[in-house]
Amino acid sequence: MKIADVKMLKNALVNTADLIVASEAELTKIDTLIGDGDHGIGMKNGFSALKILLLDQDFGYPYDLFHAAGLCLLKNMGGTSGVLFGTLLIGGLNGIKDKKFLNAKDILYFFEIGYQEISRRGKAKLGDKTMVDALYPAIEYMKQSLSDDITIYNLLNSAYEGALAGVENTKDMLPRQGRSKNFREKALGYPDPGAVSISLFFKGMSEGLG
Ligand code: ADP
Ligand code: MG
Repeated sequence: MKIADVKMLKNALVNTADLIVASEAELTKIDTLIGDGDHGIGMKNGFSALKILLLDQDFGYPYDLFHAAGLCLLKNMGGTSGVLFGTLLIGGLNGIKDKKFLNAKDILYFFEIGYQEISRRGKAKLGDKTMVDALYPAIEYMKQSLSDDITIYNLLNSAYEGALAGVENTKDMLPRQGRSKNFREKALGYPDPGAVSISLFFKGMSEGLG
């Protein structure tokens, strides 16, 4: 499909919620090695609340869906990443207002503004070993794969591939933001937990469109 309606996007978010909740142990492990250990729990809290909300409610427009989902994550996730994941879904909302269907360009634009807002709020630069280092290549891969014929699945899958490449690169970065900053060289060799979460987010979204 070259467009996504609110039902497909809701399925995608439910699938993402399941994937992230199932990844709690992995995320906790990484954040324990190079952070304060709460990232897995925060992600689980936010995305399990999101799943309950999604199963309980129907939405008329993608705007309503992402707006409710972003607020839910902000409220239930806690930590820095709660604010930033909420921002990912709220920052780009103006660009999809009144649209019943989103095409590849709409979705790319939506996440690009979300990325810009995360950078503005969190002030992390590329190379600081944060989720931004997965989000930026996710956007870039989407831009490169954009064409008139691209399916939403392929677009989101290229975001996933970009994010994965970003996660790999974070292993060689020294942490310069958040709580992992104190770990300095000890963080080398490990990926940034927030970056891993971004890759899981796009994996869940692409595979869950249904
Ligand atoms: P906290 O740092 O408050 O314990 P979490 O453990 O939930 O929050 O999330 C940690 C993740 O948040 C990091 O792995 C990193 O990806 C991301 N992060 C932290 N600070 C920033 C920032 N200023 N900008 C972007 N991402 C950040
Ligand atoms: Mg933490």
